[in-house]
Amino acid sequence: MADGNLTIGDDKFPAGKPQIRAPHPGPFDDFLSLFFPLRCVHCGSPGAWLCPGCLAALEPIGPDRCRRCGRPASRNLPGAHNQPRPHARPASSESTGCRECRGRRLPFSSARAAFRYSGPARSLVHALKYSGQRRLARFMAAISADLSGLTRGTREVTLTHVPQHRSKLLARGYNHAELYAQAVSRCLDLPLENLLTKRHPTPAQNRLNFHERRKNLSESISLRRDAKATRRVILIDDVYTTGSTAAECAEVLREGMGITVEVWTFARTVKEKE
Ligand SMILES: [Zn+2]
Ligand SMILES: [Zn+2]
Repeated sequence: MADGNLTIGDDKFPAGKPQIRAPHPGPFDDFLSLFFPLRCVHCGSPGAWLCPGCLAALEPIGPDRCRRCGRPASRNLPGAHNQPRPHARPASSESTGCRECRGRRLPFSSARAAFRYSGPARSLVHALKYSGQRRLARFMAAISADLSGLTRGTREVTLTHVPQHRSKLLARGYNHAELYAQAVSRCLDLPLENLLTKRHPTPAQNRLNFHERRKNLSESISLRRDAKATRRVILIDDVYTTGSTAAECAEVLREGMGITVEVWTFARTVKEKE
């Protein structure tokens, strides 16, 4: 996006579906591709991390969404017509939220995601998380960072990421959320700080709801002793599922540092029915 004065909560989003363009590979990527040829992580066709068809199949989440949790309005879900109405009312007001977040105490001021977590977006996240494809973080940042609307090069925000427990770091070798945050930071020339730490591992949360997950996470995340940030922090993760992880991290940041936290994720789970 050319306009560089947006905030993550703004709605100066291009009308219709934004064009997602594949970034040009850097010389290092070109070199590596000689030995490890790229294949589309979704359909397997050779030549790129996502082939043109899968790139076009990504579902960006536009301005017609909940101001608090970022859930797209139901009329924008598959099956409904997909053209945003020029003067559409927002899916919710900031105070009330949507049917997913209404009644929840959310310690972040807003959450937004670049894409719906399905199809090619899900394949990208899986490949980064489980297949050791670290280089993917750069590609994911390149196709998503501009959709955040963050002001390029500003020193008024600090990016940070969801922490991972040491045991997972040792097993996987990296924190995928950190890799994505680093790549977004480079793409947008924004400062990134490691502000949070995870003291004990969290048991699998796949089947838990928002409140159960938060209970599960409670007291596992804390502020690093040397944490320093601007008044406005953007917390970055790969996927927003129920928002419990983001909420837990945001609460620690807000209470420990007295700052405003916004959440940015590469993708977001959108259940058709709540
Ligand atoms: Zn493909
Ligand atoms: Zn909501």
